[in-house]
Amino acid sequence: MLKSVLIANRGEIACRIIRTARRLGMRTIAVYSEADAQALHVKLADESHAIGPSPARESYLVAERILSVAKAANAECIHPGYGFLSENAEFAEACEAAGIVFVGPPASAIRAMGLKDAAKALVEKANVPVVPGYHGPNQDESFLRAEASAIGYPVLIKAVAGGGGKGMRRVEQDAEFSEALASAKREAASAFGNADVLIERYILKPRHVEMQVFADRHGNVVHLFERDCSLQRRHQKVIEEAPAPGMSEDVRAVMGRAATEAARAVGYVGAGTIEFIADGSDGLKPDGFFFMEMNTRLQVEHPVTEAITGLDLVELQFRIASGEPLPFAQSDLSINGHAVEARLYAEDPEKGFLPSTGKLWALDLPTGGRGIRVDTGVAAGDTVTPFYDPMIAKIIAHGATRDEALDRLSAALGRTVVAGPKTNTAFLRALCDAPGFRGDRFDTGFIDRNLESLGAQTSPPSHKSVAAGVAALLDQAVRARPQGAWAHDPWAVADGFAAGPALNRRLRLDVEGDAIDAELSFKDATAFLRIQGADGDIPLLPGTAVSVYPRGGDVLVIEAGRQTRVAFADLLDVDLDDAGGGDAAIKAPMHGKLVAVFVRVGDRVTKGQKLALVEAMKMEHALTAQVDGEVSDILAQEGAQVAEGAKILVVARSQP
Ligand code: ADP
Repeated sequence: MLKSVLIANRGEIACRIIRTARRLGMRTIAVYSEADAQALHVKLADESHAIGPSPARESYLVAERILSVAKAANAECIHPGYGFLSENAEFAEACEAAGIVFVGPPASAIRAMGLKDAAKALVEKANVPVVPGYHGPNQDESFLRAEASAIGYPVLIKAVAGGGGKGMRRVEQDAEFSEALASAKREAASAFGNADVLIERYILKPRHVEMQVFADRHGNVVHLFERDCSLQRRHQKVIEEAPAPGMSEDVRAVMGRAATEAARAVGYVGAGTIEFIADGSDGLKPDGFFFMEMNTRLQVEHPVTEAITGLDLVELQFRIASGEPLPFAQSDLSINGHAVEARLYAEDPEKGFLPSTGKLWALDLPTGGRGIRVDTGVAAGDTVTPFYDPMIAKIIAHGATRDEALDRLSAALGRTVVAGPKTNTAFLRALCDAPGFRGDRFDTGFIDRNLESLGAQTSPPSHKSVAAGVAALLDQAVRARPQGAWAHDPWAVADGFAAGPALNRRLRLDVEGDAIDAELSFKDATAFLRIQGADGDIPLLPGTAVSVYPRGGDVLVIEAGRQTRVAFADLLDVDLDDAGGGDAAIKAPMHGKLVAVFVRVGDRVTKGQKLALVEAMKMEHALTAQVDGEVSDILAQEGAQVAEGAKILVVARSQP
């Protein structure tokens, strides 16, 4: 067995690989970029080495630097994880040349499967069904257009070097073809440096079903059953499961054979995934699926396969890399129950799934639940940066049946609390519970067709969350005041609110950046909030079913996975900054242009320090820090026009 491994990756997958390597007695070597100096994978590894600045292009993608660290640290092998260098044939070659084992397939197999057109041509020869279409070298527009007509609309244009859904366009009719082709080629050229495309028939009611394969160096190839990854958004997987709903033994056998044949056709070694697109209009059929591509690495969604097979896929990768034969034959393998994985992302489903960055003020993942596994690479206090994929965690549920697994996943998502960046927690839960998904009549268009009912649309703030936020803000203000300072404020008497005549107080709230007027009133020693536009008073009692995270100047309220930020817009009513402990938002003093920002998120600043410049009416105005602390948020970009009062950045006050 190999004795040491360098993990050329970060985040959850680096942590996951380290765990198995450690269990196998291997010495673990992590690498990290500047942004990741304090990351979980660095803390977990036996040793770690800096490899450069935060952008991946200057660190995790720099093959020479990673190799020189591997040599210096005497790493016997390199595990590339997924993404980054995992499907880079030159890197695999360079490892071998340096006498370091690359935990993955031979460079030749990566290359053979690297371009979609060549891969299709190759597996077609091995009698694996491919989507009808054109995947030859002719890139002439009129030729491709004629091919599209011959295939029959709708068609899909795909970048041959594609990945992550880039350079892909669905075309409904001939009249749209030329424009779609030009835009697919532009995107492909800029993303992959290769503008070539192929044309495929667009499969109706498509389901994404993929086969996990494993091959050793001794000619053995098996499959570890299938995964269904049909729940996608923009061709990116959101929820994955194994086995595929509605899969029969017959179809599985045919698909498994096609997958192992495809692997054999390229002399595959290690873990790989053969992705098929299945025509799901009438259930899964033995002649109703087609090869799309092969991923020559470990997949994000491999844990669902681990759950139903009881195998550790990373251990198998290491064993195969060290030359051992596969420890089982196909007939030894069987499926135990059902598993589902949800990708928890820092993104805002209510704003078109925009990535959301920032500090994780709270992170409560449902670890330890029955049948629940959580794979993550972050901890509370870490920051989700714009440099990498904003996945926070993978939550995997295993159960005896599909319903049990989905129930467990849904409950686990219900226990998940993330404060700071916005997340897709509520969206994922809605997906788990969606009747259309619970049945097995769904396809890759399911999410897009159901965005509204899944909560992926802007909706007004929850009044319950707003009330919980106001209660926390008041509570904080009361606690922070010096004793007796508010003696004449009948609504601000410490330890609750005095009984007495009904006194009303108007408040202007900042809810998610929008000004909302509200009125506070008191009856029978209880405070009530009336929110403009809502009917009825909401009692300000200790929140139930919501989690509240006061940050000083504002409060993050998490209710059923949805985050609402609440602050007093008018600090004359309750002056938190005076009261101490408050974050200070730096706002534009007038309409103008933000000409410079001198700090970055995470920088420490001192009171009075110049943070940014706004140019208005031909004059520059310096924005300075009002407190000592750390820049926690930058909300406007250099060069942007800013409105008077617009928040430019936030300084989190240092804890005394
Ligand atoms: P990428 O490598 O960019 O991820 P893939 O070829 O793996 O691209 O396709 C991504 C997704 O696009 C698939 O999972 C499937 O949902 C959809 N897709 C791909 N090919 C077809 C097709 N011929 N018909 C319908 N949908 C397709």
